[in-house]
Amino acid sequence: MKTIGLLGGMSWESTAVYYRVLNSMARDRLGGLHSAKCLVWSFDFAEIEAAQTAGDWERATELMVAAARNLERGGAECLLICTNTMHKMAAEVQAAIDTPLLHIADSIAPAIKEAGCRAPLLLATAYTMEQDFLKGYLRETHGIDVWVPEPEDRAEIHRIIYEELCRGEVWPDSKETYLEVVTKEASKGADGVIFGCTEIGLLVKAEDFEIPAFDTTVLHAKAALDFALKG
Ligand code: GLU
Repeated sequence: MKTIGLLGGMSWESTAVYYRVLNSMARDRLGGLHSAKCLVWSFDFAEIEAAQTAGDWERATELMVAAARNLERGGAECLLICTNTMHKMAAEVQAAIDTPLLHIADSIAPAIKEAGCRAPLLLATAYTMEQDFLKGYLRETHGIDVWVPEPEDRAEIHRIIYEELCRGEVWPDSKETYLEVVTKEASKGADGVIFGCTEIGLLVKAEDFEIPAFDTTVLHAKAALDFALKG
């Protein structure tokens, strides 16, 4: 089994989910006392969020590259950026290391295609919904065109991520907001929903929706374990 390096702490609420999913999948697949070989780099998320809010992506990239190198030196044989948003600098991180970076979009694309979704709705931070780093990657690498919510809904989805989910707060009203947005967009034609922020699975589950749901956290962890157990 290869060692999986996790660039985490963005936020730790979702990194904890990655850790649990990786280990429970390893146990399910291998049985007995097996668990996933992992190295976790966990940022102080306040430092990352400050760079994001200031638009200082150069600083954020420096922090990510330094952490990726530390994981590589520590023996990681593949790397996961445990957040969709910080895939903004995925190319720079990959360029700085020899270890393969398993891109989060590569792990969700097969499931979206297999479900036959043509217009999946992307729920994510404003950075991910409004900039092109993830949407463009899905379009150019996998031919998947995603759909995003209306501007005022995007703002509320983003607020709930940073002010609640990344702080471990899960509120019924916020769940209702997410459900309403998905219902509204599904009535306009969205035919799937991407949990495009690694904390969203803390608030809503696939069973909450009539259209197929794709949880980036679970699918990314699964892709990493597939990689770790291959060959
Ligand atoms: N974990 C989140 C994501 O998947 C948001 C936190 C961050 O900005 O990294 O985008």
